[in-house]
Amino acid sequence: MPYSTLPCRSEITETSPLPVDSPTILNLDALTRCFQGRVKAVDGISLTLKKGELLALLGPSGCGKTTLLRLIAGLERPDGGRVDIAGRPVAGEGYWVPPEERQLGMVFQDYALFPHLSVADNVGFGLKGAKGARRRSPVQVRDRVSQSIDMVRLSGLDKRYPHALSGGQQQRVALARALAPDPALVLLDEPLSNLDAQVRQSLREEVRLILKNSQASGVFVTHDCEEAMAIADKVAVMRQGRIEQLDRPEVLYWQPASQFVAAFVAQMNFIQARRKDQGWITELGEFSGKITGDLDGAESSSGEITLGVRQSNLHLDPAGSDRPANAQILTRQFLGREYRYTLELGPNPQFPPTAEGPKTLQALVPMGDSYEPGDAVHLSIGGQPLQSFSK
Ligand code: ATP
Repeated sequence: MPYSTLPCRSEITETSPLPVDSPTILNLDALTRCFQGRVKAVDGISLTLKKGELLALLGPSGCGKTTLLRLIAGLERPDGGRVDIAGRPVAGEGYWVPPEERQLGMVFQDYALFPHLSVADNVGFGLKGAKGARRRSPVQVRDRVSQSIDMVRLSGLDKRYPHALSGGQQQRVALARALAPDPALVLLDEPLSNLDAQVRQSLREEVRLILKNSQASGVFVTHDCEEAMAIADKVAVMRQGRIEQLDRPEVLYWQPASQFVAAFVAQMNFIQARRKDQGWITELGEFSGKITGDLDGAESSSGEITLGVRQSNLHLDPAGSDRPANAQILTRQFLGREYRYTLELGPNPQFPPTAEGPKTLQALVPMGDSYEPGDAVHLSIGGQPLQSFSK
């Protein structure tokens, strides 16, 4: 879809914030799934999600995001723990509710639209076969289909077939189809990963607004940090089947609970430091500014601490007699208003080399002085506070 035809933010706005007493829609308790009796793809995960909340499962490849989503969907059976959806146990010891009876909407990476059905028939597919209290008359189905197509801003395209839609439009049909039956929970598996960068970025905002305005709760999987932060109310950062930190995007970014989260979410660098007089001597020289975090807990037996330094808190100067070279530029990336440099630290007698070899750091530097790969520079800490980490 051409970028210009996407609605701009002023055309769709988010409805009021979530009431504090919203009921719990998803409850996971010590959920575990092993493969071949040993790989713990999901390792004792517990969390809750309230009505209208959006949760992102974020983490590197193989950390268990998809398995967790499939356990919620009922496409995998847990080896331990339980899943409750809208207050009803759906998986756990002694009970099992199949996926089609879990009141879920699903959106897949490849859209999974029926190619032989029009947009309207795709969206109405799950409504026609509904049974019991969720059964609708043909008129009610038609009204709900048209309401759902309006909701994703595809009015007028209801008779088109998937092959005549752009990727972004197809994904919006998939979203309308998932939302049409008014599910308790929508599960989205990397919903934007098949789209090109520009559409992807604008659809992020739209997906959030559509889900928010439909008051659906949602869980979506992504390995794209920016996408998780842009869409979700809460982000669970996963590592080796466990949740490393679950919090609002702002908290993850400004108060990461571990080095793993700091590196994955905030792309922080890590340097070693030791107390010196009232301040610290670090791998990048003396530092007397503010350090956040549990300093006492972070100090190792050798008296060293690990400090997290944001890329934008590193400062580069040309090497000179008053500022000796302590790093060399390895690569330079042009990012528009700034450069990202990858630098290798030079030998430092105060901090003997480790088995991992020379340390590399990344610095985000505003346009201005520019350095070339191979240049020797003086690298220093240009901003504060820094955060200490014990792991
Ligand atoms: P990606 O981002 O690459 O999709 P992920 O975070 O979604 O990764 P999972 O697909 O949930 O990770 O996989 C978690 C772990 O479980 C991996 O080690 C994976 O190899 C393993 N795994 C997943 N499904 C199976 C399976 N059916 N049989 C055996 N091992 C599996």
